[in-house]
Amino acid sequence: MAKIGFIGLGNMGGPMASNLLAAGHQLKVFDIVPELIARTVEQGATSVEIARDAVKEVDVFISMLPASVHVETLYLGDEGILKSIDTSTLVIDCSTIAPASASMVAEAAEAKGIAMLDAPVSGGVGGAVGGTLTFIVGGSDAALEQARPILENMGKNIFHAGGPGAGQVAKICNNMLLSVLMTGTAEALQLGVDNGLDPAVLSEIMRKSSGGNWALEVYNPYPGVMDGVPASNDYEGGFLVDLMIKDLGLAMESALAKGAAIPMGSLARNLYITHRDAGYGRKDFSSIQKVFSHLEGA
Ligand code: NAD
Repeated sequence: MAKIGFIGLGNMGGPMASNLLAAGHQLKVFDIVPELIARTVEQGATSVEIARDAVKEVDVFISMLPASVHVETLYLGDEGILKSIDTSTLVIDCSTIAPASASMVAEAAEAKGIAMLDAPVSGGVGGAVGGTLTFIVGGSDAALEQARPILENMGKNIFHAGGPGAGQVAKICNNMLLSVLMTGTAEALQLGVDNGLDPAVLSEIMRKSSGGNWALEVYNPYPGVMDGVPASNDYEGGFLVDLMIKDLGLAMESALAKGAAIPMGSLARNLYITHRDAGYGRKDFSSIQKVFSHLEGA
């Protein structure tokens, strides 16, 4: 069993740390929210007072933070932990951040002889709790093979996207596509409803036809069509509109950096920003259905 340092015990990091503890690993944990540390300590982890103590004498170090600025500050800031990490420690950042930030931090780690992977995840809080996350990894083959047994304690699928930063690029491409297909699905469902169709009947027709997609299969955005999805629970739980906007911003930055056109992703981002500004930032991203609904409660 490994000695693991873990920083960032939020909605995703908390249950990921729990799964590592359940697998028998020893964890040193840190978060800026003391209650989150206490919750993980109750499950058997050891707490540390400051971030850089979480990297001492560990085989693996994992971070799960909100955004690029947090990751850059943690690793490269004045109190940056890269200064304290031993070269024998494998570093895995699971946050979803800008590919350029991931590459910059990985290069700084490499310059110190430290192996680092970017390993953003897909699968949401449910996947983190159930240990069924998908890891989308950027970095060397050797580092990934070293990380694999640890990642397998938290996830079901592990993909190697390429070198440093490649995991972030693949994650951003996937989430941009997800925003586009969710928005298109919501639009089509509302068109059908406006023209007198039952949304459940239309969903089944499209699911089995050429418009079939992941949203229609497992995450229908129309209230009442599918059990157990955010749409049937006032869009509570799931993947927040705010987080989708963050990821679409990363897609936008990546497109600008390479001069790439992302017309569909740009439109989806604008729709999601309008939606957030209407008060839906903390709702699930399938609530984009509301943008198309003319009927209160639809
Ligand atoms: P979260 O805000 O719940 O958790 C982040 C944690 O980091 C918080 O507990 C916060 O206190 C802590 N933190 C921030 N700065 C810190 C610092 N300097 N030192 C120590 N702790 C610090 O966010 P989350 O939902 O767990 O998401 C984490 C990452 O995973 C994000 O990049 C997000 O985009 C990505 N992600 C989230 C989901 C999801 O469904 N929530 C799905 C896939 C990927």
